[in-house]
Order: sequence, then structure tokens, then C-alpha cells
Amino acid sequence: MTPSTDRNLPLFERAKAVIPGGVNSPVRAFKAVGGTPRFIERAQGAYMWDANGQRFIDYIGSWGPMILGHGHPAVLEAVQKAALEGFSFGAPTEREVELAEAIIDLVPSIEMVRLVSSGTEAGMSAIRLARGATGRNKIVKFEGCYHGHADALLVKAGSGLATFGNATSAGVPAEVVQHTVVLEYNNVQQLEEAFALHGADIACVMIEPIAGNMNFVRASVPFVKRCRELCTQHGALFVFDEVMNGFRVALGGAQSVYARDIPGFEPDITVMGKVIGGGMPLAAFGGKRAVMEHMAPLGSVYQAGTLSGNPVATACGLATLREIRQPGFFEALSASTRTLVDGLVAAAAAEGVPFSADCEGGMFGFFLLPTLPQNYATVMQSDGARFNRLFHGLLDRGVYIAPALYEAGFVSAAHTPQDIAETISIARDVFKSLAN
Ligand SMILES: *Cc1c(COP(=O)(O)O)cnc(C)c1O
Repeated sequence: MTPSTDRNLPLFERAKAVIPGGVNSPVRAFKAVGGTPRFIERAQGAYMWDANGQRFIDYIGSWGPMILGHGHPAVLEAVQKAALEGFSFGAPTEREVELAEAIIDLVPSIEMVRLVSSGTEAGMSAIRLARGATGRNKIVKFEGCYHGHADALLVKAGSGLATFGNATSAGVPAEVVQHTVVLEYNNVQQLEEAFALHGADIACVMIEPIAGNMNFVRASVPFVKRCRELCTQHGALFVFDEVMNGFRVALGGAQSVYARDIPGFEPDITVMGKVIGGGMPLAAFGGKRAVMEHMAPLGSVYQAGTLSGNPVATACGLATLREIRQPGFFEALSASTRTLVDGLVAAAAAEGVPFSADCEGGMFGFFLLPTLPQNYATVMQSDGARFNRLFHGLLDRGVYIAPALYEAGFVSAAHTPQDIAETISIARDVFKSLAN
């Protein structure tokens, strides 16, 4: 691309004049990897095209929602029909009930669900619910897990268990995060100590079960089991943030994956988003009836939303869920994701690049590390400079992965075996250049 025909750079310059950093969500700015963000013009199936007309095989999928690929005909039809009927009413609709019923049908731990518009809103509301239902203030979260940008959740670990976390954003008063305890992911001993110290005050433990906001790190089975036991024992609620994992790693979400190893396993509250909106602003939180009945107007925990359960968004979500429930859908999606991951591992090995990777359902992650990390500190030992070369090498050759080494990747049902094979062969080229 000669400078005179490149449209991304001038668009980015225009954007920066009117939008902070030129983007409406920070990671889109390419700050970690450098270079100019691609302005996307359109997308279809597994591909996106930027303002220069360059085609990319898309492994971001809008950060998870586009599990069917872009522009799936059945979803498009449902959205077009809904749009003709009206954009928003501020009154109840049948599709909200249908979507709630579909979620409850797919996730056994959920008996009631409230629809909202973003994962942040769902996570924030889940915490208010946990506090309201238990009458306690403290919440436990884990380093490297992202639960949206509510004040109480923008916290990193303090210097010890007895100290409180520190806000990771300006504008968050220390008083607001003083009730948030931040622990190391997968560290059973720290978890036990935290409960020994604060057990009677803990409203909830919130976790990303397969953490996609530190690339791809699984909570170990013993860790999830111990979280569950300690919550039950101390009267705290266990909150699974499945905004990324839900309807993505398996039809029943990450909780169905853990239930294979922990018989009868269920969280108390589940936070959902991304796939349930199919690319529209839609998220949800749900749980057992006894917990959910604390929500207004039944109970005293207040939460509301002008666009909650939006009729066009629910049509998009319902059509998406209908497709992913088809027999064999997850088997096929898991198999393509596995083929990609195995291919990348083999390509890196052939070029002598230290590399490890993992996947579940249609979600994957890889590290420029010889073995898979178990917590945030280890994830951050990845070679950032090398990742940036890998990222730009792939991008220049038409493969679009997340522009940061601590973000997961997503395969859609629209990715064909040819797309996967092309990706692996491009990756091998890039690995070769990394090795030199
Ligand atoms: C994306 C994400 C959120 C936030 O959702 P938004 O819709 O971006 O507000 C919360 N939790 C997890 C695990 C996520 O991946």
C-alpha cells in the first residue's frame, strides 16, 4: 500500500481529532502493538475488509459475539424483520421472554434472568445483587480477570491479603475499591487465607472460569471446586462471569465444562454477554430464583435500563442461539478450533519458536512461552516485542488476531478448513521470520 492510497491512517488522524485516542474502546487503538488500526468497512462470513479493501481472516469476531461468522442469513433475516416492527418500546415484549426461556433451557444453574445491554452492566449488577442478597460488602476477584469497567472491579492486588486492592483507573476513589479483595488466579492457598480472614464479610467470589482477558488461562478444577466449597461454607455467592465463555466454549458455557469434572457443579450467579447478543448490545445475569428475587421490582436491589431487552437485539440473540443449538454445531466448531491450534503449535515447533496454545469450543489462546501459564504474572512474562512482530506479520498477510498478547482468539462456524489451513501456512511464514 503506497502512502497516497492508504485510507486507514487519514481515518485514524481524523478520529483522533474528535474521539479520545481515536477509538471507542482502548484496545482497538493498537497502543500495545504499535501501528495504525484498520478501519473496518464490512464483513462477511469469516472475513473483514478494511478501508483499503484488504481482506482479513477474522479471529476476533467482535471479541467473541460473532460465533456464526458475519452476516449469517438467518440472523440477518431475524434482525431485518425485527427492525421493521420497531426499534425500542420501553415496554415488555415476547422476544425477551423467549430469550430468557432459551438461556434457562441451556444453562441449568439459571432459573431467572435479567437482560441488560453490556457485559459491564451485567457484571456491575451481579455484584450489587450479591451484596444485596447477602447483606455483605466484600467481593473477591482474581488478578487478570476482567469483568467490565465498573468502579469496584477496576482493581489490582495490594501488597498483601490484609491490604486492599489499588484502583487501576484514575477517577476511582479508594473508598470504592476498599471492599474488593484481589487474589492470584489458581492459588488455592491464598483463597483459603482470604476466607479465613474475611469469610463472614464476603458477598461473592467472581471469576472468569476460562480467563480470556489474560489470553487463555483455565481455572484449574481443584481451584473452582475449592471456590465453590468455600462460598457454600461461608454463605458467599459464587459468580461465574461467562460474558466471554458462555455459549462459546460449550453450549452450556464454562460451567458445563467444569460440571464434567465436578459432579453437580453450579455457580450461584452467571454473567453473560457477547454471544447472546450475536453482535448487538445485549447481556444478562441470572441465577437461582431465590437469589434473583432480590431484584427490583420484586426485591430491594435496584437495577434498570431504557434499552434493556431491546427488540432488535433480542431478535439477533435468539436467532444466534437457535443456530448454535443445531445438533453437531459445537462438535464442528471445536474441531476447527482444535485444528487451528494444533497447526499453530506444529508450525511454531517447525520454526523453533517457543509456543504453547490451548482451546475450548470456539475459543483459543496462544503464548510465546514454552508452557501454558497458570496466572497473570506468568502470562505477562510473554515476550511483548516478539508478539508485536507476530501480530503485524499476520496482519500484513491478512490474518486478524487481537492486538494484544493478553487477549483470547475466536473461531466462527464460518471459518472453513481452507481458511484454517491458509492461516496456519501464513503463521508458519511469520514464525520463520521471528526465528531469524
Ligand atoms: C467483554 C467482557 C466483559 C465486559 O463486557 P462489555 O460488553 O464489553 O461491557 C465482562 N466480562 C468478561 C469476561 C468479558 O470478556
